[in-house]
Amino acid sequence: MQLDLKGLEQCTTSSFLSSSLEKAYILLHDASSRKKVSSLWENCFIVCISYINEVSYFEIVKKDSSTDARAGILKTPHGEVRTPSYVVVGTDAAVRCVPSEELPHTKTQLIIANTYHLWRTLGKKLETFEGLHKRMKWNSPLMTDSGGFQVFSFGFGREHGMGKMGNALPVRKLSVGTGRASSPADEAALRSRPARPDSCRDTKLAGLRELPPDNFLAGRGKNLVRVTDDGVYFSTEDGEQYLDAELSIYIQEKLGADIIVAFDEPTSPLHDHAYTKESLERTHRWAIRSLKARARNDQLMYGVVQGGAFEDLRKESAEFIGKQPFEGFAIGGSYGESMGAPREQMLSVLRWSVPYLPKEKPRHLLGIGRIEDVFDAVEHGMDTFDCVIPTREARHGSLWTAKGRFDVRKGSFEGSREPIEEGCGCIACGEKNITRGELRELFKSKNMEAGHLASLHNVYFFNNLLERVRDSILEGEFSKFRDRFLSNIHR
Ligand SMILES: [Zn+2]
Repeated sequence: MQLDLKGLEQCTTSSFLSSSLEKAYILLHDASSRKKVSSLWENCFIVCISYINEVSYFEIVKKDSSTDARAGILKTPHGEVRTPSYVVVGTDAAVRCVPSEELPHTKTQLIIANTYHLWRTLGKKLETFEGLHKRMKWNSPLMTDSGGFQVFSFGFGREHGMGKMGNALPVRKLSVGTGRASSPADEAALRSRPARPDSCRDTKLAGLRELPPDNFLAGRGKNLVRVTDDGVYFSTEDGEQYLDAELSIYIQEKLGADIIVAFDEPTSPLHDHAYTKESLERTHRWAIRSLKARARNDQLMYGVVQGGAFEDLRKESAEFIGKQPFEGFAIGGSYGESMGAPREQMLSVLRWSVPYLPKEKPRHLLGIGRIEDVFDAVEHGMDTFDCVIPTREARHGSLWTAKGRFDVRKGSFEGSREPIEEGCGCIACGEKNITRGELRELFKSKNMEAGHLASLHNVYFFNNLLERVRDSILEGEFSKFRDRFLSNIHR
């Protein structure tokens, strides 16, 4: 059923402004086709409720006077997130090395899980999945990504040896990989809706063939991804798998996180302008398709801004995505120091993009999370950011403190009676009084407790840092706090 905007205008009040009409149209159109709602008035009620929700789920409590930093409260069905906030990564529905019951002691507010990995892991079980909150025993806010990052990481990133944790910017421009081809008939079969949940293996499967589970971008390899305007084909050990906007939203609604993300295609700074523009337009079409695919109204959906390292494309993307009726916005493919990119690149992306995003809605920076990156992101008006750094680096012996990062496995820490960080309130430092020397011994003997204790500390460190950042905004002292904190870090 198509709805006429004029008819909608007649049945709404004057407070129902034009920006909301665009959202209203999409919601009405979707609701009518998906839920077969017969009454226009019933649809209008749904739209009005959505509109009311739109202005109530995110509250900006305080704005910094000298920067774009802001402190807010993001309200979700599973509780509030006080922003700015770190988002802890729980790729396969678990924060590695940190049991759920210990997460509250790490000041974790929000966890992001990986849609692609969960889709591949759950397979048929997705249909009857009890939801991420129950699976994780985590009755607090959750977020899922779109699966779009795997388009980049298993494709161009893998082909050119570009890692999430570094080596993101090889020095020369490279051509765009195309992946392997399959026949039109094969593609049609993969895109067939009923076959999708069954197309996954019904067993635990962490990822794609040849991909080490913990560092899947470590080296160069074959491009395992083929991107089309319809969606993305992944080469897996089970043959090709197909993921598109509709399936991404379907999976994310089944997973049931509080915040979900529209399907997108991240690009690399190495992609040229022509490909980045082509990809951007595809991401924009996928954004609209993601909105139309919604069947639940209790999740916040974030649209994703892309555009690589090109100012005109970033602005174009932010302007387009910023006008869509998403509840929040994410900036993707921005890279930061955590991705091996120069600091200036991430700053440019933020400066180009943020002005086009609605001020009253939450903003998330995808895949960014070193200390300097976090301060830059907050200063430019970002509210949340996710990164694997705290847990991944902990498992390899890298500990974060207010003075910077150190590798506890080094010989200089043998027998050290110094705590991981003086005054730290984490379980490892506070309750267990673990010394650097003891932690070094645990790593040397490959004791599982080493990664556990180090993760407890790192996750707490970043969550606590963001809590202090938030407090500094509330007290009108953000710039002073930032300058003091960064000046104490050994680089
Ligand atoms: Zn600690």
